[in-house]
Amino acid sequence: MTNPTENFALSGCRILFAEDGPDNQRLVSFILRRVGAEVVIAENGQLAFDEAIKARDSAKPIDIILMDIQMPVLDGYEATRKLRAAGYDRPIVAVTAKTMPGDREKCIDAGCDAYLPKPVQQRPLIELIAWYYSFAGRGDNNQTAPNTLEKNNDDETRATTIKT
Ligand SMILES: [Mg+2]
Repeated sequence: MTNPTENFALSGCRILFAEDGPDNQRLVSFILRRVGAEVVIAENGQLAFDEAIKARDSAKPIDIILMDIQMPVLDGYEATRKLRAAGYDRPIVAVTAKTMPGDREKCIDAGCDAYLPKPVQQRPLIELIAWYYSFAGRGDNNQTAPNTLEKNNDDETRATTIKT
């Protein structure tokens, strides 16, 4: 696999980023757009729900949702539960500063497919999304996602986000 940060690994991928923090919105959008993704921002869980359902029922569905957990109006757990209850079956990846023991399981229990801890690191973020995107539309949900919790020691790929 070529370096996912140096090509258009996510070309054509439509990502909904549910995140209330402006700094994280800017940084993650920058990282993802640079590798070809289209990024839609939702500032809270309710707006994320509305956008994902609207897109699903249109000609341009969202490929992957990145879901912050701590958000106003509707938090990431509730937004994810609501989406799953509405039959939304596309990948949802929790992106959260909640990194205590058991927090990953709470995200999975709410209906998330995977979990990325903040501060977000560029390479694991792109690799995880690229992995899901490579299966988009194939109906192949029985694969095991790459381990996103391994420490990435390559400082060049490190991106810092504000923990909110
Ligand atoms: Mg937040």
